[in-house]
Amino acid sequence: KTIIKIGEAEIGGAEPAIIAGVCAVESREQTMITAQVVAEAGCKWFRGGAFKPRTSPYAFQGMHEEGLKILAEVRDTYGLKIVTEAIDEPALDLCEQYADVIQIGTRNMQNFSLLKRAGQARKPILLKRGMSSTLEEFLLAAEYVMAEGNYDVILCERGIRSFGSHSRFTPDLAVIPAAQKLSHLPIILDPSHSTGTRETVIPMARAGVAVGADGLLVDVHPYPERALCDGPQALLFDMFRQMVEEVRAIGQIVRKPA
Ligand code: PEP
Ligand code: MN
Repeated sequence: KTIIKIGEAEIGGAEPAIIAGVCAVESREQTMITAQVVAEAGCKWFRGGAFKPRTSPYAFQGMHEEGLKILAEVRDTYGLKIVTEAIDEPALDLCEQYADVIQIGTRNMQNFSLLKRAGQARKPILLKRGMSSTLEEFLLAAEYVMAEGNYDVILCERGIRSFGSHSRFTPDLAVIPAAQKLSHLPIILDPSHSTGTRETVIPMARAGVAVGADGLLVDVHPYPERALCDGPQALLFDMFRQMVEEVRAIGQIVRKPA
């Protein structure tokens, strides 16, 4: 089983890895206060988008390099490892300079030229499942990265398209043990993007760890009503602290020492 390890921080190890932070870096203040809460909760990973793949071209697209500099400040201040999304090759060039882990989003899971470029990067890749992709397509997308020589790939289930309107996407929990049966790669769950509403995030986070997810990718925001991206799914700080406590307890029951 592959364990992704950067310093003390691990994904695929004994504890479920909690990668938490802002959906989008919107300002230095919003990012730094969220990072403080994430660090104080004992988490080792911070997420934040500087390049945002938005459905509407008129929506906030991210702070780009300025946002990456804020993320680098998060690492310098709190020691958190940084996960950030590259939406295209030029963004990947920049993310490689500033981040610890480069995220490829659901909409790019089969962007094969971007996957090949990610495979040439010397940083781990967090690969999100395409929202309409089969497990086979998902694993073959990971192969595109590994075939270029980068074996540090983290799979991420982020919900698939379904017919319900109670949830933005459908978190496919069954894909987690199925992927673990076929692949040595760690797989985490994104309970935020897969549901779209904060009330559903903690129940799905608990469930994800219970079915064996190697970690979680979670949105948190200090004032979600003013968020420029995905406010309705962002956990408030107290909810986040509660989630961390609960999933740690579940992790102790279901995870065997490596
Ligand atoms: C994100 O994690 O910020 C994101 C845009 O996710 P996805 O690609 O799963 O929609
Ligand atoms: Mn988002």
